[in-house]
Amino acid sequence: METPIDPGGTVLLRLNDASVVYPDGTVGLARTTTGFAAGAFCVLLGPSGAGKSTLLRSLNGLVPLSAGTVWAEGIGPLAGTADWRLHRRRTGMVFQQHQLIGRLSVLRNVLTGRIAFASTLRSLWPASVADRRIALHALDRVGLLDAALRRADQLSGGQQQRVGIARALAQQPRMLIADEPVASLDPATAARVLELLRDICRDAGIAVVVSLHQVDLARRFADRVIGVSAGRIVFDGPPSALDERALQAIYGPGLDPAIDPARTEPAASPSERPAFDGTGPLSAVA
Ligand code: ADP
Repeated sequence: METPIDPGGTVLLRLNDASVVYPDGTVGLARTTTGFAAGAFCVLLGPSGAGKSTLLRSLNGLVPLSAGTVWAEGIGPLAGTADWRLHRRRTGMVFQQHQLIGRLSVLRNVLTGRIAFASTLRSLWPASVADRRIALHALDRVGLLDAALRRADQLSGGQQQRVGIARALAQQPRMLIADEPVASLDPATAARVLELLRDICRDAGIAVVVSLHQVDLARRFADRVIGVSAGRIVFDGPPSALDERALQAIYGPGLDPAIDPARTEPAASPSERPAFDGTGPLSAVA
């Protein structure tokens, strides 16, 4: 499906006639042409197995296209290794399970966002002053500067996700991709994390693409909603256009939000711990 690219900022990334067919023949993404604009907070909705992850991961090459191209502003159609390396460096990824290294400090975790800018991993030890400044700035942006020296595994789930966002911000990205970033968070924490992502999107003019399971959160935070069903984009518009007909196109007819887990909030995570309010010196970092 060819979908309109939302108005607003510069288009930073396009999929042109892009499709993904997995080796077993499963169509993860049917032929799709669409784009993502700077400063637009785009939410992907769809039932499990619809193709949200495939679409998201095709944007930074984690899933290779079977046909078509990915085009990035300032680079063009991504062809060789050098194109993809540059594009990935400019594209931050936020994961559902944070993927932090628990025994390392929060700051060191954020500094791993700078790895793509270093010639070798070793060059991070010790991190350069410039990289530390970028990492600390990213932590400040997510409200966790005071937690810089804590072990990452001592933070609550919501705080760990904010560290994951800071790590992506440390890449100084033009685009952020987040695959179900709030799936393991309680509703209040999930809303705070999405609010943070939306604010970063607007303030920094970054294109943000997030997959979600909660229609209500998409309505609350998205500038643009893309509905995916069976590997196809079946809805593309503002949240105000997400009426019952659109929801049926995405989730199928007859689904009751009260019993369909894909359309309701997740249960609170038992691992969620109270907020950390500690302070610590920042001079002894990394
Ligand atoms: P969603 O993120 O919406 O849950 P996915 O993008 O993960 O959907 O999956 C889309 C379709 O592709 C599903 O049918 C899924 O089973 C299939 N799929 C995903 N990854 C693979 C893979 N590595 N190999 C084969 N099929 C896959």
